[in-house]
Amino acid sequence: MLGVPAEMESLRKLAQSLEPTALIFTKEDSPLMRFLNFFARVFNPTFMESAGVTIGNRIYLPSTWFGKDLSACIVHEARHITQCRWCGLGLSAWVGLPIFLVLYGLLAFPIFLAVFRYLFELDACAASWRELLMVGVSAEAVRKRAEQEAQVVAGWKYLRPWPKFLVIRGFKKKFEKVLAGFGVAHA
Ligand SMILES: [Zn+2]
Repeated sequence: MLGVPAEMESLRKLAQSLEPTALIFTKEDSPLMRFLNFFARVFNPTFMESAGVTIGNRIYLPSTWFGKDLSACIVHEARHITQCRWCGLGLSAWVGLPIFLVLYGLLAFPIFLAVFRYLFELDACAASWRELLMVGVSAEAVRKRAEQEAQVVAGWKYLRPWPKFLVIRGFKKKFEKVLAGFGVAHA
């Protein structure tokens, strides 16, 4: 890809308002992402075009996504930086990265038993729901998005981390909790 997308600066500002060290890159420009795609495409053939990826404090987005409203997506990915920092006892996302990766992927690798991968995604999705509700997107539209996200997280793109009916139930419960909290905060 040639050049930096026009909205890169405002997206970076949004991400850094949530995590001051956050950086954003386009996926196609990243040798690391192209390397990961070598493996990821086996279970997700559209990995380069269909997934945002966060590693440490670095958010990688497909260049085809630019031009759409990416704020909810940035909030989701920035939440992964926060989770990573939690794993590093709050010090930095890089300190926490090894533990985060173990929890997200390696230790939890057995398909259907990767509960942390599911929980990290649920928490990041909930952060983006709060953002969408805050900017005035209707509860119904966000609920629909949450239902779709549950399907994706339960599916092969995430290596089926947790039994599907539990993912769907978990997303549903979390959404109702976010909605209830939002109603209280904005009553
Ligand atoms: Zn995620």
